Amino acid sequence: MRNINCTLCELGDGCNNPCLWGEGNPNAKLMLVGEAPGHAEDIQGAPFRGMAGKLLNNILDRLGIDRKDLYLTNVIKCHPCFIKLPTGKKLKVLIDACRVYLDEEIATVKPKVILALGATAASAFNIKNISMVEGTEPASGVLVALDRKSVV
Ligand code: SF4
Repeated sequence: MRNINCTLCELGDGCNNPCLWGEGNPNAKLMLVGEAPGHAEDIQGAPFRGMAGKLLNNILDRLGIDRKDLYLTNVIKCHPCFIKLPTGKKLKVLIDACRVYLDEEIATVKPKVILALGATAASAFNIKNISMVEGTEPASGVLVALDRKSVV
């Protein structure tokens, strides 16, 4: 359940929309998982807005996929307002802290396929090398991780 008062890490400090959950079809077969809300998402209170949202909409249009059929979310639920997202082990600490929320979304939606967009999202599923598309078995289906460049 979304917890706007979450203190599991420091990222929520100063957010407009802390612990921002995903949106979309609650019975979606495909779940897209990005890194973290950006400024536009934090202001609008929904994932995949701003430039990232426009890019995603263009790609979905080209593929003939209706955005409403998907469930869209992020690995990290708070927009990092005051700090730059770290890398390496420090990033893993943040991902692990927030993982409880993503796990709940996955358990609720039960997607057949989870598409992890970018290295951060992929690392949440323990995929370290996303130069090649790689599949593993999360709780509810198939996981595919894509490098952002290969999505564009
Ligand atoms: S990023 Fe996740 S773990 Fe950290 S405060 Fe926000 S909701 Fe909690």
